[in-house]
Amino acid sequence: MPDTAANSWEARAEAATFYGFTDLPSIHARGTVVLTHGEGPYIVDTHGRRYLDANSGLWNMVAGFDHAGLAAAAKAQYDRFPGYHAFFGRMSDQTVMLSEKLVEVSPFDRGRVFYTNSGSEANDTLAKMLWFLAGAEGAPERRKILTRVNSYHGVTAVSASMTGKPYNALFGLPLPGFVHLTCPHYWREGRPGETEGEFTARLAAELEEVIAREGAETIAGFFAEPVMGAGGVIPPSAGYFQAIQPILKRHGIPLVADEVICGFGRTGEVWGCETYGFVPDAIISSKALTAGYFPMGAVILGSDLADRLHAAAEAVEEFPHGFTASGHPVGCAIALKAIDVILNEGLLDNVRAMTPRFEAGMQRLAEHPHIGEWRGKGLMGALEAVADKATKTPFPSDLSVSERIANTCTDHGLICRPLGQSIVLCPPFILTEAQMDEMFDKLEAALTRVFAEIG
Ligand code: PLP
Repeated sequence: MPDTAANSWEARAEAATFYGFTDLPSIHARGTVVLTHGEGPYIVDTHGRRYLDANSGLWNMVAGFDHAGLAAAAKAQYDRFPGYHAFFGRMSDQTVMLSEKLVEVSPFDRGRVFYTNSGSEANDTLAKMLWFLAGAEGAPERRKILTRVNSYHGVTAVSASMTGKPYNALFGLPLPGFVHLTCPHYWREGRPGETEGEFTARLAAELEEVIAREGAETIAGFFAEPVMGAGGVIPPSAGYFQAIQPILKRHGIPLVADEVICGFGRTGEVWGCETYGFVPDAIISSKALTAGYFPMGAVILGSDLADRLHAAAEAVEEFPHGFTASGHPVGCAIALKAIDVILNEGLLDNVRAMTPRFEAGMQRLAEHPHIGEWRGKGLMGALEAVADKATKTPFPSDLSVSERIANTCTDHGLICRPLGQSIVLCPPFILTEAQMDEMFDKLEAALTRVFAEIG
Protein backbone atom coordinates (compact mmCIF):
# COMPACT_ATOMS: atom_id res chain seq x y z
CA MET A 1 0.00 0.00 0.00
CA PRO A 2 1.31 3.46 -0.81
CA ASP A 3 2.13 5.93 1.91
CA THR A 4 -0.67 8.44 1.21
CA ALA A 5 0.39 11.20 3.60
CA ALA A 6 0.56 14.45 1.63
CA ASN A 7 4.25 14.87 2.37
CA SER A 8 5.20 11.26 1.55
CA TRP A 9 7.61 10.67 -1.30
CA GLU A 10 4.88 8.74 -3.10
CA ALA A 11 2.37 11.62 -2.92
CA ARG A 12 4.98 14.21 -3.84
CA ALA A 13 6.08 12.16 -6.83
CA GLU A 14 2.51 11.87 -8.10
CA ALA A 15 1.66 15.51 -7.46
CA ALA A 16 4.51 17.05 -9.41
CA THR A 17 5.57 14.55 -12.06
CA PHE A 18 3.99 13.74 -15.42
CA TYR A 19 4.59 10.02 -15.79
CA GLY A 20 5.61 8.29 -19.01
CA PHE A 21 5.32 4.56 -19.76
CA THR A 22 3.54 4.03 -16.42
CA ASP A 23 0.26 2.24 -15.77
CA LEU A 24 -1.38 5.11 -13.88
CA PRO A 25 -4.26 3.23 -12.17
CA SER A 26 -1.78 0.68 -10.91
CA ILE A 27 0.54 3.37 -9.58
CA HIS A 28 -2.34 5.18 -7.85
CA ALA A 29 -3.10 1.90 -6.10
CA ARG A 30 0.44 0.76 -5.37
CA GLY A 31 2.40 3.97 -5.02
CA THR A 32 5.53 5.14 -6.78
CA VAL A 33 8.80 3.52 -5.76
CA VAL A 34 11.04 6.51 -5.00
CA LEU A 35 14.70 5.54 -4.98
CA THR A 36 17.61 6.95 -3.08
CA HIS A 37 20.60 4.88 -4.13
CA GLY A 38 21.88 1.56 -5.36
CA GLU A 39 24.22 -1.18 -4.18
CA GLY A 40 25.64 -3.44 -6.88
CA PRO A 41 22.59 -4.81 -8.73
CA TYR A 42 20.18 -3.65 -5.98
CA ILE A 43 18.23 -0.41 -5.75
CA VAL A 44 17.02 1.05 -2.45
CA ASP A 45 13.88 3.12 -1.89
CA THR A 46 13.01 5.91 0.55
CA HIS A 47 11.67 3.29 3.00
CA GLY A 48 15.00 1.48 2.95
CA ARG A 49 13.57 -1.45 0.94
CA ARG A 50 16.07 -3.21 -1.33
CA TYR A 51 15.15 -4.62 -4.73
CA LEU A 52 17.28 -6.79 -6.98
CA ASP A 53 16.87 -4.97 -10.29
CA ALA A 54 16.65 -7.80 -12.80
CA ASN A 55 16.06 -5.22 -15.53
CA SER A 56 19.32 -3.28 -15.03
CA GLY A 57 17.21 -0.10 -14.80
CA LEU A 58 16.10 -0.01 -18.43
CA TRP A 59 18.56 -2.61 -19.77
CA ASN A 60 21.36 -0.10 -19.28
CA MET A 61 22.87 -0.23 -15.76
CA VAL A 62 25.05 -3.17 -16.68
CA ALA A 63 27.82 -2.37 -14.16
CA GLY A 64 25.36 -1.99 -11.29
CA PHE A 65 24.47 1.10 -9.34
CA ASP A 66 27.64 1.95 -7.42
CA HIS A 67 30.62 1.39 -9.70
CA ALA A 68 33.35 3.51 -8.16
CA GLY A 69 35.49 3.62 -11.29
CA LEU A 70 32.69 5.05 -13.41
CA ALA A 71 31.84 7.67 -10.81
CA ALA A 72 35.54 8.57 -10.57
CA ALA A 73 35.84 8.91 -14.35
CA ALA A 74 32.88 11.29 -14.30
CA LYS A 75 34.28 13.32 -11.41
CA ALA A 76 37.73 13.56 -13.01
CA GLN A 77 36.26 14.82 -16.27
CA TYR A 78 33.89 17.25 -14.50
CA ASP A 79 36.93 18.69 -12.76
CA ARG A 80 38.95 18.87 -15.96
CA PHE A 81 36.44 20.05 -18.61
CA PRO A 82 32.79 19.73 -17.61
CA GLY A 83 30.96 20.35 -20.83
CA TYR A 84 31.33 21.15 -24.49
CA HIS A 85 29.67 20.51 -27.83
CA ALA A 86 30.95 19.06 -31.10
CA PHE A 87 29.89 21.85 -33.51
CA PHE A 88 31.98 24.26 -35.63
CA GLY A 89 35.09 22.09 -35.71
CA ARG A 90 35.58 22.04 -31.95
CA MET A 91 35.25 19.01 -29.70
CA SER A 92 36.83 17.60 -26.57
CA ASP A 93 39.79 15.24 -26.57
CA GLN A 94 37.53 12.65 -24.90
CA THR A 95 35.19 12.81 -27.89
CA VAL A 96 38.05 12.08 -30.28
CA MET A 97 39.22 9.16 -28.18
CA LEU A 98 35.72 7.70 -27.90
CA SER A 99 35.16 7.90 -31.66
CA GLU A 100 38.41 6.03 -32.24
CA LYS A 101 37.47 3.45 -29.62
CA LEU A 102 33.97 2.90 -31.02
CA VAL A 103 35.31 2.34 -34.53
CA GLU A 104 37.97 0.03 -33.10
CA VAL A 105 35.45 -2.16 -31.25
CA SER A 106 32.89 -2.02 -34.08
CA PRO A 107 32.72 -4.72 -36.74
CA PHE A 108 33.81 -2.09 -39.30
CA ASP A 109 37.35 -1.75 -40.64
CA ARG A 110 36.78 1.99 -40.91
CA GLY A 111 33.96 4.23 -39.85
CA ARG A 112 32.77 7.46 -38.26
CA VAL A 113 30.72 8.22 -35.16
CA PHE A 114 28.01 10.81 -34.52
CA TYR A 115 26.76 11.47 -30.96
CA THR A 116 23.29 12.04 -29.52
CA ASN A 117 21.75 12.04 -26.03
CA SER A 118 19.63 8.92 -26.45
CA GLY A 119 18.89 5.90 -28.55
CA SER A 120 15.78 7.53 -30.01
CA GLU A 121 17.77 10.50 -31.22
CA ALA A 122 20.40 8.21 -32.67
CA ASN A 123 17.76 6.44 -34.76
CA ASP A 124 16.28 9.78 -35.84
CA THR A 125 19.73 11.02 -36.69
CA LEU A 126 20.53 8.04 -38.87
CA ALA A 127 17.17 8.33 -40.66
CA LYS A 128 17.99 12.00 -41.34
CA MET A 129 21.45 10.98 -42.52
CA LEU A 130 19.91 8.52 -44.99
CA TRP A 131 17.46 11.17 -46.22
CA PHE A 132 20.26 13.72 -46.50
CA LEU A 133 22.28 11.21 -48.47
CA ALA A 134 19.33 10.48 -50.75
CA GLY A 135 18.91 14.19 -51.42
CA ALA A 136 22.62 14.71 -51.99
CA GLU A 137 22.92 11.70 -54.30
CA GLY A 138 20.05 12.87 -56.49
CA ALA A 139 17.51 10.30 -55.29
CA PRO A 140 15.25 12.34 -52.99
CA GLU A 141 12.43 9.79 -53.27
CA ARG A 142 14.60 7.25 -51.35
CA ARG A 143 12.93 7.95 -47.99
CA LYS A 144 10.96 4.96 -46.76
CA ILE A 145 12.14 3.09 -43.70
CA LEU A 146 11.51 -0.63 -43.17
CA THR A 147 11.28 -2.11 -39.67
CA ARG A 148 9.36 -4.98 -38.07
CA VAL A 149 6.17 -5.40 -36.06
CA ASN A 150 7.06 -5.48 -32.33
CA SER A 151 10.29 -3.59 -32.83
CA TYR A 152 11.16 -0.74 -30.49
CA HIS A 153 13.35 2.07 -31.75
CA GLY A 154 12.37 4.97 -29.49
CA VAL A 155 9.87 7.74 -28.91
CA THR A 156 10.88 10.75 -30.98
CA ALA A 157 8.66 11.27 -34.02
CA VAL A 158 10.85 9.31 -36.43
CA SER A 159 11.98 6.56 -34.06
CA ALA A 160 8.40 6.15 -32.81
CA SER A 161 7.32 5.76 -36.43
CA MET A 162 9.93 3.02 -36.81
CA THR A 163 8.61 1.32 -33.68
CA GLY A 164 6.22 -1.52 -34.41
CA LYS A 165 4.36 -1.52 -31.10
CA PRO A 166 0.86 -0.18 -30.47
CA TYR A 167 1.87 3.10 -28.85
CA ASN A 168 1.34 5.39 -31.80
CA ALA A 169 -2.39 5.79 -32.47
CA LEU A 170 -3.18 8.81 -30.29
CA PHE A 171 -0.07 10.60 -31.52
CA GLY A 172 -1.21 10.32 -35.13
CA LEU A 173 1.91 8.29 -35.90
CA PRO A 174 3.59 6.62 -37.69
CA LEU A 175 4.58 9.29 -40.17
CA PRO A 176 4.02 8.28 -43.80
CA GLY A 177 6.66 6.04 -45.32
CA PHE A 178 7.34 3.65 -42.44
CA VAL A 179 6.66 0.02 -43.33
CA HIS A 180 6.50 -2.73 -40.70
CA LEU A 181 7.30 -6.29 -41.71
CA THR A 182 6.48 -9.52 -39.88
CA CYS A 183 8.15 -10.06 -36.51
CA PRO A 184 10.67 -12.93 -36.79
CA HIS A 185 9.21 -14.79 -33.80
CA TYR A 186 8.88 -18.39 -34.93
CA TRP A 187 7.05 -19.68 -31.83
CA ARG A 188 4.26 -17.10 -32.18
CA GLU A 189 4.26 -16.30 -35.91
CA GLY A 190 5.15 -19.67 -37.40
CA ARG A 191 2.23 -21.40 -39.15
CA PRO A 192 1.08 -24.92 -38.24
CA GLY A 193 3.47 -27.41 -39.79
CA GLU A 194 5.94 -24.73 -40.90
CA THR A 195 9.56 -25.45 -39.98
CA GLU A 196 11.74 -22.64 -38.62
CA GLY A 197 13.70 -22.66 -41.87
CA GLU A 198 10.49 -22.31 -43.88
CA PHE A 199 9.36 -19.50 -41.60
CA THR A 200 12.61 -17.61 -42.17
CA ALA A 201 12.28 -18.17 -45.92
CA ARG A 202 8.71 -16.82 -45.79
CA LEU A 203 9.93 -13.64 -44.08
CA ALA A 204 12.67 -13.23 -46.68
CA ALA A 205 10.05 -13.64 -49.42
CA GLU A 206 7.89 -11.03 -47.69
CA LEU A 207 10.82 -8.62 -47.74
CA GLU A 208 11.24 -9.21 -51.48
CA GLU A 209 7.53 -8.56 -51.99
CA VAL A 210 7.56 -5.37 -49.92
CA ILE A 211 10.57 -4.05 -51.83
CA ALA A 212 8.87 -4.86 -55.13
CA ARG A 213 5.60 -3.27 -53.99
CA GLU A 214 7.13 -0.09 -52.54
CA GLY A 215 9.90 0.21 -55.13
CA ALA A 216 13.54 -0.30 -54.08
CA GLU A 217 14.33 3.22 -55.24
CA THR A 218 11.97 4.61 -52.54
CA ILE A 219 13.56 2.77 -49.59
CA ALA A 220 16.25 4.48 -47.49
CA GLY A 221 17.04 1.71 -45.01
CA PHE A 222 16.03 -1.30 -42.93
CA PHE A 223 16.40 -0.90 -39.14
CA ALA A 224 16.46 -4.02 -36.95
CA GLU A 225 17.36 -4.93 -33.39
CA PRO A 226 19.47 -8.11 -33.46
CA VAL A 227 17.29 -9.35 -30.57
CA MET A 228 14.08 -7.37 -30.18
CA GLY A 229 14.06 -6.03 -26.64
CA ALA A 230 10.96 -4.09 -25.70
CA GLY A 231 8.94 -6.27 -28.07
CA GLY A 232 9.40 -8.98 -25.44
CA VAL A 233 12.97 -10.28 -25.98
CA ILE A 234 12.54 -11.91 -29.35
CA PRO A 235 15.64 -13.46 -30.91
CA PRO A 236 15.41 -13.77 -34.68
CA SER A 237 14.41 -17.06 -36.21
CA ALA A 238 17.32 -19.24 -37.33
CA GLY A 239 19.16 -17.77 -40.31
CA TYR A 240 17.02 -14.62 -40.40
CA PHE A 241 19.75 -12.03 -40.95
CA GLN A 242 21.57 -14.32 -43.40
CA ALA A 243 18.32 -14.56 -45.37
CA ILE A 244 17.42 -10.87 -45.46
CA GLN A 245 20.82 -9.20 -45.79
CA PRO A 246 21.59 -10.41 -49.35
CA ILE A 247 18.16 -9.15 -50.46
CA LEU A 248 18.80 -5.72 -48.96
CA LYS A 249 22.30 -5.64 -50.48
CA ARG A 250 20.99 -6.54 -53.90
CA HIS A 251 18.63 -3.57 -53.74
CA GLY A 252 21.21 -1.17 -52.27
CA ILE A 253 19.24 -0.80 -49.01
CA PRO A 254 21.43 -0.27 -45.91
CA LEU A 255 20.87 -2.65 -42.98
CA VAL A 256 21.05 -0.82 -39.65
CA ALA A 257 21.57 -2.80 -36.44
CA ASP A 258 19.81 -1.03 -33.60
CA GLU A 259 22.14 -2.26 -30.85
CA VAL A 260 20.77 0.04 -28.14
CA ILE A 261 20.06 -3.01 -25.94
CA CYS A 262 22.27 -5.69 -27.48
CA GLY A 263 25.40 -3.56 -27.81
CA PHE A 264 28.29 -3.93 -25.39
CA GLY A 265 27.81 -7.45 -24.27
CA ARG A 266 24.16 -8.25 -23.52
CA THR A 267 24.04 -11.21 -25.94
CA GLY A 268 27.50 -12.55 -25.02
CA GLU A 269 29.48 -10.75 -27.74
CA VAL A 270 30.21 -7.04 -27.93
CA TRP A 271 27.50 -6.63 -30.56
CA GLY A 272 24.32 -8.54 -31.22
CA CYS A 273 25.23 -8.60 -34.91
CA GLU A 274 28.38 -10.55 -33.95
CA THR A 275 26.24 -13.04 -32.04
CA TYR A 276 24.07 -13.48 -35.14
CA GLY A 277 26.93 -13.48 -37.64
CA PHE A 278 26.27 -10.44 -39.81
CA VAL A 279 27.94 -7.09 -40.42
CA PRO A 280 25.43 -4.24 -40.81
CA ASP A 281 26.01 -0.96 -42.63
CA ALA A 282 25.64 1.09 -39.43
CA ILE A 283 25.11 0.54 -35.72
CA ILE A 284 22.94 2.46 -33.27
CA SER A 285 24.36 2.35 -29.74
CA SER A 286 23.25 3.71 -26.36
CA LYS A 287 22.42 2.33 -22.87
CA ALA A 288 25.41 0.10 -21.95
CA LEU A 289 27.62 2.46 -23.97
CA THR A 290 27.94 4.48 -20.74
CA ALA A 291 26.75 1.66 -18.47
CA GLY A 292 23.80 3.98 -17.92
CA TYR A 293 25.95 6.54 -16.08
CA PHE A 294 25.34 9.28 -18.67
CA PRO A 295 22.64 9.84 -21.31
CA MET A 296 24.33 9.18 -24.63
CA GLY A 297 23.62 7.61 -27.98
CA ALA A 298 25.91 7.04 -30.93
CA VAL A 299 25.49 6.38 -34.63
CA ILE A 300 28.44 4.30 -35.81
CA LEU A 301 28.67 4.40 -39.59
CA GLY A 302 30.47 1.66 -41.48
CA SER A 303 32.94 2.70 -44.15
CA ASP A 304 30.57 2.88 -47.12
CA LEU A 305 27.95 5.08 -45.43
CA ALA A 306 30.66 7.09 -43.66
CA ASP A 307 32.41 7.85 -46.96
CA ARG A 308 29.24 8.69 -48.85
CA LEU A 309 27.85 10.88 -46.08
CA HIS A 310 31.16 12.64 -45.65
CA ALA A 311 31.28 13.38 -49.37
CA ALA A 312 27.64 14.56 -49.34
CA ALA A 313 28.30 16.89 -46.40
CA GLU A 314 31.49 18.24 -47.96
CA ALA A 315 29.60 19.02 -51.16
CA VAL A 316 27.18 21.32 -49.31
CA GLU A 317 29.70 22.42 -46.65
CA GLU A 318 28.07 20.82 -43.64
CA PHE A 319 25.68 18.24 -42.26
CA PRO A 320 23.22 20.60 -40.56
CA HIS A 321 22.31 18.47 -37.56
CA GLY A 322 23.55 18.02 -33.98
CA PHE A 323 22.58 18.33 -30.32
CA THR A 324 24.02 20.76 -27.81
CA ALA A 325 25.40 17.86 -25.79
CA SER A 326 26.55 15.73 -28.78
CA GLY A 327 29.92 14.29 -27.81
CA HIS A 328 29.73 15.72 -24.29
CA PRO A 329 33.20 15.34 -22.72
CA VAL A 330 31.89 13.86 -19.46
CA GLY A 331 29.68 11.41 -21.33
CA CYS A 332 32.61 10.44 -23.56
CA ALA A 333 34.94 9.97 -20.57
CA ILE A 334 32.33 7.78 -18.90
CA ALA A 335 31.77 5.79 -22.10
CA LEU A 336 35.51 5.19 -22.48
CA LYS A 337 35.61 3.94 -18.90
CA ALA A 338 32.43 1.85 -19.34
CA ILE A 339 33.83 0.15 -22.44
CA ASP A 340 37.02 -0.60 -20.52
CA VAL A 341 35.05 -1.95 -17.56
CA ILE A 342 32.86 -4.15 -19.77
CA LEU A 343 35.66 -5.49 -21.97
CA ASN A 344 38.63 -5.57 -19.57
CA GLU A 345 37.23 -5.84 -16.03
CA GLY A 346 35.38 -9.07 -16.53
CA LEU A 347 31.82 -7.91 -17.22
CA LEU A 348 31.56 -9.45 -20.68
CA ASP A 349 33.31 -12.55 -19.33
CA ASN A 350 30.69 -12.72 -16.59
CA VAL A 351 27.86 -12.49 -19.13
CA ARG A 352 29.36 -15.51 -20.87
CA ALA A 353 30.05 -17.37 -17.63
CA MET A 354 26.54 -16.76 -16.24
CA THR A 355 24.62 -17.51 -19.44
CA PRO A 356 24.34 -21.29 -18.85
CA ARG A 357 22.97 -20.67 -15.33
CA PHE A 358 20.55 -18.09 -16.74
CA GLU A 359 19.37 -20.49 -19.41
CA ALA A 360 18.96 -23.29 -16.86
CA GLY A 361 16.91 -20.99 -14.61
CA MET A 362 14.70 -19.93 -17.50
CA GLN A 363 14.29 -23.54 -18.59
CA ARG A 364 13.25 -24.53 -15.07
CA LEU A 365 10.56 -21.83 -14.94
CA ALA A 366 9.43 -22.64 -18.47
CA GLU A 367 8.38 -26.08 -17.22
CA HIS A 368 5.49 -24.40 -15.42
CA PRO A 369 2.17 -25.36 -17.08
CA HIS A 370 1.34 -21.69 -17.69
CA ILE A 371 4.65 -20.72 -19.29
CA GLY A 372 4.39 -21.29 -23.02
CA GLU A 373 7.91 -20.40 -24.04
CA TRP A 374 11.16 -19.09 -22.69
CA ARG A 375 13.39 -17.26 -25.14
CA GLY A 376 16.46 -15.14 -24.99
CA LYS A 377 20.17 -14.79 -25.66
CA GLY A 378 23.05 -14.13 -23.28
CA LEU A 379 21.68 -12.29 -20.26
CA MET A 380 18.36 -11.22 -21.74
CA GLY A 381 15.32 -13.43 -21.62
CA ALA A 382 11.55 -13.61 -21.45
CA LEU A 383 9.00 -16.07 -20.13
CA GLU A 384 5.68 -15.95 -21.94
CA ALA A 385 2.58 -16.75 -19.90
CA VAL A 386 -0.20 -18.70 -21.59
CA ALA A 387 -3.61 -19.89 -20.50
CA ASP A 388 -3.11 -23.09 -22.49
CA LYS A 389 0.36 -24.40 -23.24
CA ALA A 390 -0.65 -26.75 -26.04
CA THR A 391 -2.58 -24.17 -28.03
CA LYS A 392 -0.40 -21.18 -26.93
CA THR A 393 -3.63 -19.35 -26.07
CA PRO A 394 -2.87 -16.17 -24.15
CA PHE A 395 -4.61 -15.23 -20.92
CA PRO A 396 -7.41 -12.67 -21.34
CA SER A 397 -5.66 -9.29 -21.24
CA ASP A 398 -7.96 -8.00 -18.46
CA LEU A 399 -6.34 -10.50 -16.09
CA SER A 400 -3.09 -8.49 -16.44
CA VAL A 401 -1.12 -11.64 -15.68
CA SER A 402 2.36 -10.36 -16.39
CA GLU A 403 1.70 -7.13 -14.46
CA ARG A 404 0.48 -9.16 -11.47
CA ILE A 405 3.59 -11.32 -11.58
CA ALA A 406 5.85 -8.25 -11.79
CA ASN A 407 3.98 -6.54 -8.93
CA THR A 408 4.26 -9.64 -6.77
CA CYS A 409 7.98 -9.72 -7.51
CA THR A 410 8.32 -6.05 -6.56
CA ASP A 411 6.55 -6.75 -3.26
CA HIS A 412 9.21 -9.38 -2.58
CA GLY A 413 12.21 -7.31 -3.57
CA LEU A 414 12.68 -8.19 -7.24
CA ILE A 415 12.23 -5.84 -10.19
CA CYS A 416 11.29 -7.53 -13.45
CA ARG A 417 9.31 -6.18 -16.36
CA PRO A 418 5.96 -7.19 -17.76
CA LEU A 419 5.90 -6.83 -21.54
CA GLY A 420 2.69 -8.03 -23.16
CA GLN A 421 2.11 -11.47 -21.68
CA SER A 422 5.81 -11.92 -20.98
CA ILE A 423 8.05 -11.33 -18.01
CA VAL A 424 11.41 -9.97 -19.06
CA LEU A 425 14.74 -10.40 -17.29
CA CYS A 426 17.97 -8.61 -18.23
CA PRO A 427 20.09 -8.42 -15.09
CA PRO A 428 23.26 -6.35 -14.71
CA PHE A 429 26.41 -8.00 -16.03
CA ILE A 430 27.92 -8.04 -12.52
CA LEU A 431 25.34 -10.51 -11.19
CA THR A 432 26.78 -13.28 -8.99
CA GLU A 433 25.53 -16.86 -8.93
CA ALA A 434 23.80 -16.27 -5.58
CA GLN A 435 22.07 -13.16 -6.91
CA MET A 436 20.94 -15.04 -10.00
CA ASP A 437 19.51 -17.78 -7.80
CA GLU A 438 17.72 -15.14 -5.72
CA MET A 439 16.25 -13.71 -8.95
CA PHE A 440 14.89 -17.06 -10.14
CA ASP A 441 13.67 -18.14 -6.69
CA LYS A 442 11.70 -14.92 -6.22
CA LEU A 443 10.29 -15.05 -9.73
CA GLU A 444 9.30 -18.70 -9.31
CA ALA A 445 7.48 -17.90 -6.05
CA ALA A 446 5.62 -15.05 -7.78
CA LEU A 447 4.64 -17.23 -10.74
CA THR A 448 3.33 -19.94 -8.46
CA ARG A 449 1.35 -17.47 -6.39
CA VAL A 450 -0.22 -15.58 -9.31
CA PHE A 451 -1.07 -18.68 -11.35
CA ALA A 452 -2.68 -20.19 -8.22
CA GLU A 453 -4.74 -17.01 -7.74
CA ILE A 454 -6.09 -17.00 -11.28
CA GLY A 455 -6.67 -20.77 -11.25
N1 PLP B 1 16.34 1.35 -29.66
C1 PLP B 1 16.16 0.29 -28.85
C2 PLP B 1 16.44 -1.08 -29.38
C3 PLP B 1 15.74 0.47 -27.53
O1 PLP B 1 15.53 -0.59 -26.74
C4 PLP B 1 15.52 1.78 -27.06
C5 PLP B 1 15.08 2.01 -25.68
O2 PLP B 1 14.77 1.11 -24.94
C6 PLP B 1 15.70 2.85 -27.95
C7 PLP B 1 16.13 2.60 -29.24
C8 PLP B 1 15.43 4.24 -27.50
O3 PLP B 1 16.44 4.65 -26.65
P1 PLP B 1 16.17 5.88 -25.65
O4 PLP B 1 15.17 5.42 -24.65
O5 PLP B 1 17.53 6.14 -25.07
O6 PLP B 1 15.70 7.02 -26.49
